[in-house]
Amino acid sequence: MPPRRSPVAARSGQREHATLPSGPRTVVSLRGVNRLKAGHVWIYRSDVISATDAGVGAVVSVYDERGRSFGSALYSTSSQIALRMLSDRPVADLAALIRERVRQAITYRQTLVQDTDAYRVVFSEADFLPGLIVDRYNDILSLQILTQAMDRQDVRDALLAELSESFRSSAIAERVEPHIRELEQLPPRVSALLMGDKANTIFSMNGVRFHFDVREGQKTGAFLDQRENYAAAASYAHGEALDVFCYQGSFALHLAKTCRKITAVDSSRPALEVADKNALLNQHEIEWIEANAFDLLKDYSAAGRQYDTIVLDPPAFAKNRQNLDTALRGYKELNLRALKMLRPGGVLVTCSCSYHVSESEFLHVVADAGRDAHKTLRVLERRGQSKDHPVLLNVPESSYLKCLLLSVTN
Ligand code: SAH
Repeated sequence: MPPRRSPVAARSGQREHATLPSGPRTVVSLRGVNRLKAGHVWIYRSDVISATDAGVGAVVSVYDERGRSFGSALYSTSSQIALRMLSDRPVADLAALIRERVRQAITYRQTLVQDTDAYRVVFSEADFLPGLIVDRYNDILSLQILTQAMDRQDVRDALLAELSESFRSSAIAERVEPHIRELEQLPPRVSALLMGDKANTIFSMNGVRFHFDVREGQKTGAFLDQRENYAAAASYAHGEALDVFCYQGSFALHLAKTCRKITAVDSSRPALEVADKNALLNQHEIEWIEANAFDLLKDYSAAGRQYDTIVLDPPAFAKNRQNLDTALRGYKELNLRALKMLRPGGVLVTCSCSYHVSESEFLHVVADAGRDAHKTLRVLERRGQSKDHPVLLNVPESSYLKCLLLSVTN
């Protein structure tokens, strides 16, 4: 059963200092406390007034300056996010809590996830397991550890024990992000199988089949957050289609059910090689092009090419708020060029996975592009990430993907 109330909701001033066990403790500023009261689960280092006995990845008790308790958090000695709230009460056995939360995350998806054997099993804060990602690709689990606490040996042991008991998977792999380990000041590690010896498999989403190899690809292997959007896009797509930033071909292969000709573009040759194998697996013919999408769209629109369906799914252009303007210009250019190439009655599927670009900013940019392209756009659907990537309403950072499906009337 999921917890009846948020396991991390902060209660203010209900328990006193003395009732909590001694051990690592932190005192946070009023600004930090207000963040917790608003339902957020992060405390930045600048809001930590003191940290006592708080080691690498420790579970710490959180207090305000008057000694009121706000529960327990996971501590990082190096990240700017110093505290990630874990519970509104003391946590005596971290390993047991982690196992219980993994089970809850699995249960949460049992009714939500359909038509796939690939989905996100654990989505960090949104599953009350800050710093942990677990994705399932049929019989292989792929996990990412993003914080000091999740890297603790006792936590790793608990995770592996729970995952191998809950899934009869052939293998559990770890995908390492070296940059994140550096930020967390964790010793370097290499991506590797943690359990089992099967490194590849075939998974399916919405009846479309894909190759998966734990040693290849971006993220944990595929962009599972778009899974429901693939099916939605396929339901409107028709005619001649162009899939821009296609990676291993997920949109293109879904569109192949309803479109008569598909061209797909990416700058990554390894991604396109897998895309081609995926096309063979599903017995579809797709034209894969290795190119810079910006150059290709410019050339194609200058050459007067026309399409009935275009998908734009670029990488995150805004890595932070500082380069927001550049990011918005990038989205504008892509959408403008795509819209100019769409025939009347055409469909544009346009996405942004930049958390720093809000949905309203994105809508604005696409509307601007429509105006400049002299096209009238109607919204078919405004979508986000698939349900196995839950959004916590009080944690805006958990919502990042925008997927807009538009009908072009002229
Ligand atoms: N649509 C894909 C995910 C795309 S992720 C899916 O649903 O699976 C973004 C992709 O953009 C990556 O595959 C990356 O290789 C590609 N990419 C990044 N910069 C690019 C550029 N300038 N031109 C073309 N492709 C680019």
